[in-house]
Amino acid sequence: MSDNTALTEHDIVHALCAPDAASLYSAARALADDVFGRQVFLRGVVEFANHCRRNCLYCGLRAANTDVERFRLDDEEILHAVSFAAAHGMGTVVLQSGEEAQGDVRRVGALVREIKRRHNVAVTLSLGDYAEDHYRYWRDCGADRYLLKVETTDDALHARMRPGTTVTERLARVETLQRLGYETGSGVISGLPGMTPRILARDILRLSAMGLEMIAVGPFIPHPGTPLGAERAAVDIEQALRATALLRLLNPGANIPATSALDSACPPQDSGTQYPVSDTRLNNQDSAHSPYGKGGREQGLAAGANVVMPSVTPERVRRNYAIYPGKNTVQCSVTEAVRQLKLRLEHAGYQPSDAIGASLSGRFRAADPMQGCKAAQTIRAAATPSGNPSGHFADNAHTHSTTPVPGTEQFSKEPA
Ligand code: SF4
Repeated sequence: MSDNTALTEHDIVHALCAPDAASLYSAARALADDVFGRQVFLRGVVEFANHCRRNCLYCGLRAANTDVERFRLDDEEILHAVSFAAAHGMGTVVLQSGEEAQGDVRRVGALVREIKRRHNVAVTLSLGDYAEDHYRYWRDCGADRYLLKVETTDDALHARMRPGTTVTERLARVETLQRLGYETGSGVISGLPGMTPRILARDILRLSAMGLEMIAVGPFIPHPGTPLGAERAAVDIEQALRATALLRLLNPGANIPATSALDSACPPQDSGTQYPVSDTRLNNQDSAHSPYGKGGREQGLAAGANVVMPSVTPERVRRNYAIYPGKNTVQCSVTEAVRQLKLRLEHAGYQPSDAIGASLSGRFRAADPMQGCKAAQTIRAAATPSGNPSGHFADNAHTHSTTPVPGTEQFSKEPA
C-alpha cells in the first residue's frame, strides 16, 4: 500500500496498539511547535453548578449520585472567578455546569454579556444539550465558543454510557453550534468500559472529519459513586496520550488540551495531593519517551496538546465538581494552584500564554490539502518502528464485552 493513501481505521488502531509510541509523540509535538510554538493557552474554568439531570454511567455528577453536595454559584461568585482568571493571564474563561433540567438561559446570556463588557477574554460555554434557539441566543450575547463532548461516536457504547441520548443527536448539536458560528469543540473519553481500539480509532477519525476547532481526549477514571465505580481502577493514560498525539497529527491547527483528567490520573510528583485512583497503570511514566516524567498535563503537552484548563472555581465548592476522582482535589488555594501550574509549564519548556488563543483549524483546512497525506505518512511510520509494516494484528472491535476491564485486554500494546 502506498504511503500516500488515505489514512484508515486500521492505521489508527495500529498506532494505538504499537509497542512503542516515542516517534508518535515526538511527531505530534514537533507539529504543535510548528503551529503554536511553545506557547500554551490558559483557559480558566468556572464550574458554576453541579446539578445534572442526566445519568451518564461514568460521571460523578450524575443525577442518581446522592452523595454529591450540590451547589449553584450566584452571579457575583461567577463574575469574581472570571475576574480572577482574567487577572491571572487567562485569555479564555469557560463557564461549565452539569446539564440542568431547566437551565436559566437568560441568566447565562446576561453573564456572557457582562463578562464581555468587563474583560477582553473569549467566553466558552460548556453546558450540555440545549435547543438551537438557546445556543443562538448565547451566541448573540457574545459567547465565542462551545464545548460539547460526544464521549464516543459508537452508537451502542454511547447509548450504554449516556442513557437517553444518542450519537446522532449529539453530533447534530455540534453541527448546529458550528452553523451558528461558535468555535466548536468536542471530544471523547478513552478507555471507557467496552471501548476497543477500533472504536477509539473510529472516534479519532470521526472527530477529525468534523472541522472542529477544539478536540479533547481524557482517560476514563472510575468514580466510586457511579455504576462503573467497581471497575478495576486501571487508568490507561497512555491511550489518552496516543489519542491526543493522533488528533494533533490529524488536526494541526486545533486547540487540544492537556486534559485535567490526565493530571488527575497522573498527578505531578511534588503536588503532595492524595489521589483516590489506585492500581493506576501509567505506561508512559517511566518509559524512555515519557515527556518529562512528571504530571499528566506535561505528558499531554509533549504528546502535542497546546492548551491547559485550570479550574478557577471557588475553593468552597470546587471539590464538589467531581466528575471523576481526583478532579479539583488540590489542597492549595486557586491562586496557588494556578501559580504552580504556570511554573510547571515553564519548567517543562513552555510559555503560559494570556492570548485568547483562537483555533487555527480553518487555516489548515484552507491552506494545506496535503496535510492529510503527511499525517498518514507520519502515523504509519510511527506505528511500525519495530518492523511490522503489514500491521496485521487482532482486534476485538466486534465484541462489546459487558464485563470489560478498561486498560487491560482491550488495549494490548502488542499486536497479536
Ligand atoms: S457527563 Fe455531563 S451530562 Fe453526563 S452526568 Fe456528568 S455532568 Fe451530567
